[in-house]
This record gives sequence, C-alpha cells and structure tokens, in this order.
Amino acid sequence: MLNLRSNALQKQWNQRPKNNRTPSETFSKLFGENVFGENAMRKHLSQEAFEAVSEAKIQSKTISRNMANQIASGMKQWALSKGVSHYTHWFQPLTGATAEKHDSFLKLSNGKAFEHFTGETLVQQEPDASSLPNGGIRSTFEARGYTAWDPTSPAFIVDDTLCIPTVFVSYTGEALDHKTPLLKSSKALNKAATDVARYFAPETQRVVATLGWEQEYFLVDAALFASRADLVMVGRTLLGHMPARGQQLEDHYFGTIPLRAQQFMKDLEVEALKLGIPLTTRHNEVAPNQYEFAPIFEDVNLAGDHNTLLMDIMAKVARRHHFCVLFHEKPFAKLNGSGKHNNWSLSTDTGLNLLSPGKTPQKNLSFLTFFINTIRAVHDDADLIRASIAGAGNDHRLGAHEAPPSIISVFIGSSLERVLDALEHSKEMATEDTQNLQMDVLDQIPTILLDNTDRNRTSPFAFTGNKFEIRGVGASANCALPMTVINTSVTHQLTRFKEEVDRRTTREEDREKIIMKVLREYLKASKNVIFNGDGYSEEWVQKAESLGLPNKKNTPEALDAFIAPKNINMFEEFHILDQRELEARTEIMYETYVKTLQIESRILGDMSRNHVIPAAVKYQNLLLENVTNLQKVFTEEDFQKRSKAQTDLITTISIHISEIICKVDEMIATRKKINTEPSSKIRSIAYCRDIIPMMETI
Ligand code: ADP
Ligand code: MG
Repeated sequence: MLNLRSNALQKQWNQRPKNNRTPSETFSKLFGENVFGENAMRKHLSQEAFEAVSEAKIQSKTISRNMANQIASGMKQWALSKGVSHYTHWFQPLTGATAEKHDSFLKLSNGKAFEHFTGETLVQQEPDASSLPNGGIRSTFEARGYTAWDPTSPAFIVDDTLCIPTVFVSYTGEALDHKTPLLKSSKALNKAATDVARYFAPETQRVVATLGWEQEYFLVDAALFASRADLVMVGRTLLGHMPARGQQLEDHYFGTIPLRAQQFMKDLEVEALKLGIPLTTRHNEVAPNQYEFAPIFEDVNLAGDHNTLLMDIMAKVARRHHFCVLFHEKPFAKLNGSGKHNNWSLSTDTGLNLLSPGKTPQKNLSFLTFFINTIRAVHDDADLIRASIAGAGNDHRLGAHEAPPSIISVFIGSSLERVLDALEHSKEMATEDTQNLQMDVLDQIPTILLDNTDRNRTSPFAFTGNKFEIRGVGASANCALPMTVINTSVTHQLTRFKEEVDRRTTREEDREKIIMKVLREYLKASKNVIFNGDGYSEEWVQKAESLGLPNKKNTPEALDAFIAPKNINMFEEFHILDQRELEARTEIMYETYVKTLQIESRILGDMSRNHVIPAAVKYQNLLLENVTNLQKVFTEEDFQKRSKAQTDLITTISIHISEIICKVDEMIATRKKINTEPSSKIRSIAYCRDIIPMMETI
C-alpha cells in the first residue's frame, strides 16, 4: 500500500494549495450558495414562476411554455450574477459517468453580442448522443436522444457552467439513463404508499422515498497512482503483493484522519455544501487510506443526483491535493473493498417516517404494515435486488467476507424478530385474546427504538431502527438502479396489499383486524428471507439454499433477473420500464461486464510482458553474472555451496518467466475465441468462467 504519511513527495505536499476553508460557523451560510434553490428562486423569479417550479416539484405539474421562459430568464440572471458563461443539460447515461455538453449563453444579433437563454433551451435539448450506450434501442429507430429538464432537482453551478439536471430518453421515448426510471418509480411508490398510509393517517397527501448514502473510497497519491498502469486504466491493482502492514492491526477504522487526507476532505466539504450536498460525516474506513463520506438524507432522486455530483467533485478536488480517488469496489486484493450503503426509508408530507415505530398502536400498525411489505418485497424480488447491484467490480466484494454475501436476506434484529413471532402466532388464540395480543404486539414496538443498537454488518439488507440499509451497493455504482428496484418492488407489494385488505373489508370497523391478518399471511410467505445470523458463515450458504433463497455468485448469473417474466410484468404494470428497455439495459450490463474484464485482461497481459518479464530477466542476469563471478573466486567445491541459493533462484525465475509467457499467450488466445461469440450473455459467462481464473494464475 501507498503510505500517505511517509511518501517521498513531502516537498510537493509542502507546496500544496493552502486550505481555503471558511470557519465552521459559516458552514450553514455556504449551504446551497451555488444552487438555484429556494433563496435564489425567490430573488430571481416572480411569485407565479416560483409557484410553478414548486408545483412541478411536489405535484409533478407540467410547466407551461410561457412559465418556462420566465424561469429561464430568472435562472440566467442568477447565473450571470455568479460569473457564469455557459449552461449544460446534466444527465446520467448508462455509462456510469455523468454527461454534459456546454453551450455558452452568447448570441449575436446585428453584430451585437448578448446573453441568451430561453424556456425552450431550459426544458429540452437534443444532444448528438448516438455514441452513448443504448443497448440497441437507438440503432433500430432514430439516432437522436433528448434531454428534458427535471424540475425536482435544482440547477447548480460548477465552475463557469450552469448545470440543469435532466432525464435522457430516445426519440421514441425509451429511457436511456438512470434518472428516468427512478423518477417513475418514485411516482408509482408515492401513489401506492399514500393509499396505504391513509389507512392510518387519512391526512397524508404524499409519500417520498428517502435516501442517505454512505460513500466509501480510497485516496492514493497522484504520482504513485500515475506509476501504476492498472490503477490508471482499470482503477484496481492487478498485480502486487500484500504490504507487511495492512489492516491486520484493525487500527484504521475510525482512527485519526491523516492530515493530508483531512485537508482534502475540508476542501471538498466546502465545495459540496455550496452545491447543496449536505455532507455531515467523514471518517476512516477499515483499510489503510480508505475513507467514507455521508450526508443528511434527502428525497431519493435528489440524493442520487448529489451522490453522482459528489463523485465528480471528489475527483476534481482530489487533484488539487495531488490525490486520486478510487471508487473501484476492490482496488487492492486482500484489503477491504469499497461500498456505498444506501439507507432507504419512506417519508410523508406530514413529516412521518413510515418505517419508524411510534408511540401509539395506530402508528405501530402503520409501521408494521410498511415494514412487512418491504420484507415481502425483498423476499419476492431478491433476484432483482441482487441484479441491481451486479457488476464486474462488485463481484470481488459480494461474498468475499468483508461485504454482504450474494444471498439477499433481511436483518431485523432480535427484538423485532420477537414482535414478528408474536404476530405470526397470534392467530391460534381465541378471538378476544387476539385483540389483546394485537395490542401487546403493537405496544412492544416503542421499546425497539431503545434497542436498535443491534447492528449486523454481514447483512445485505439491514433494518436499522427507522430505515433499511442496503449494504451491497458498489462504491462506483449509481444509486438509481438499486433504488428504482426497491421502489418498484415495494410499490408492487403495497398495491397488492391494499387490494387484499380492501377486498376483505366489508365493515370499516374490521379493517385493522384484517390488516393484521393480511400482514400475518405476508409474514408467513416471506419470513424465510429474514436472517439475523452471520451472513459470512458457510452454514448460512447451506441454510439459504435449503430455504430456496437465490445465491447468484457473479454478474453473468445475476443479470437474468432483469428479463425474468415476473419482473418484466412488474416493471410494466407500474410503467417504470418496459420489456424493450429492460432488455436494452441488461444488454448494456453484460457488455460493460465483458469490456471491463477484457480491458483488465489486456492490461494484465501488457504489464506481465512489458514490466514483469523485463524486470525478471534483468534480475536473473544479475544473478547469472554473480554466479559467473563467484566461480572465478571459489574452488569448485566452495563454489557449489556458495552459489546454490542463486542458482535455485535462477531456476525459479526461469520457471516463472516461461509460465507467465505461456499463460499470457493462452489467455489472449482464449479471449480471441470468446470474442467471436455474438451473444453478450454467453461472452460474459465465458469471461467469468475462463478469463478470471487465468488472470488469477498469472
Ligand atoms: P450508520 O450507523 O450506519 O452510520 P447513521 O445514522 O449515521 O447510520 O446514518 C447513515 C445514513 O443514513 C446517513 O446518510 C443518514 O442521513 C441516513 N438516514 C438516516 N435516516 C434516514 C431516513 N429516514 N431515510 C434515509 N436515510 C436516512
Ligand atoms: Mg451505515
């Protein structure tokens, strides 16, 4: 590992940019300085335009052309007051990165130059985006793609550019980005969850999914980063050996943050706060030079935008501090990899957290309803959740005894398990007692809040008192895909749940009893997915198999779930994604997997041939020279003794050299053969089965 405290770049470090952080009491003043949020809108928009944006945000109301012009004009005014010269539609194509094409506000008329920005350019753009991944959608129809303004995520300024968050769709309306299905899933979830929430709180108007992500990452000195072809090209080391001191002393997690890393974090926090990203937490992670950032949670769409934006900003700010940030899920073998825990919950417009137990039985019945529906969602759609966190990088993490296993299960802790047990068995009792027991069950719940220190780091889907923590998401991933899947799956359960309760309810007074009854059935149908034990243990793998829980160990195995008929039906029912879009996305994920492994394998071949072999030959020659010289000074008998170690080494090196050359040739030949296979799915299976083991041997 590269040690930040003692590397030879002390001099460069001394010349680092001086920390420009403002004292912490001004943090709140910095917040949102570069965002066209409420303050800026109030200043630069008419009351009418302000309300139009707010309504579009809250009730998905369409903004009229005239209003869009007014908003654009206010936005331009604000941007110009901040020295901005360009604007861009900022979107998240299926590449894993963000995309932007900058245009300046400049316009000429009769030889006179002025700044120009209209509602039309705010609302829609037609980027020449035919080179972005589309999974075959665009080649069949039109090459054109459209970006369209997402008024629920405020515009922001980076450097001299006004960035307008947008969705990205094809000419024929198919989603080509991460944001479109996420927004659709939030809309569907709002409907389903509001309907159910009204059983308990009739005043509920709106439910949003909330997301608080925890972003893990590594910092590596930029010069040392540049010296490793593998880090530069694929973001992880393909060769190397363990440092003598890695993480075995367990002294890094929550340890003192090294000064240089902390300077970077402080600088970054200022930038993030100005962009309205509410970062609050920073700490050391388990591996050396590994850290984490976490913000205050927000609406899932905004939180997702903020995560992608932060990742971009991190890379830029790190450069100022002569660092490179690694988001790869496993940059260094045998050291912990990086994840992105997605804390997910449901929040009402009346300020309730639907996954938080409360003080009254009423609130707790509501809590149990959303809690059990979520558990059932994870049970029924575990395959889809697994697919949503799949990728070549994350395959190194999942199931590697440092991150949750590939088996999707839910951790709820022992006290909630007792509550659910009581609920499940309450049926056997007489009717009057049932009523009492129901009260008992519901009355127990408040104490859970006191007892939720119960944490389980080995679970991929852990309940943590008032939210679920989805721990299997990879550090480099876009939050949108797993969030879209959870939203859709929970929407599906809540919709079926409400249909069932309504169907059975003939008298209003009976409804709570019926809800309890349906919940009991849901629990029975899905309790196999609840697991409070050690997710890393071999026993769990066995047990999960006997319970019929899927265990998809790698990406090629996992991706099929996206196009399983039950999942296509679900996505189509709630208008999130249709079959074509799902097929296109799956195709892109297979392709990305294959290309990632292909690049890794090429780099490994190049490094072996161009770096390792020459170094080995050089060392071998040195040894040979040494042996020749020894022969000159020793008697034959002494020479045999004195040169034994060297000749043994020469032999070992010879064996390794020819092995490496041989294996690299073999790997290239295998790759060539696999690449002729037209199906990306079959290619991905072959890369996984054949190329990965070869890379490991080399
Ligand atoms: P941990 O012990 O896992 O670090 P924290 O309480 O620090 O847990 O929270 C981690 C993340 O969870 C933070 O980003 C926080 O904003 C987020 N979080 C807290 N409450 C919610 C919620 N209701 N919905 C979504 N995310 C939440
Ligand atoms: Mg956490």
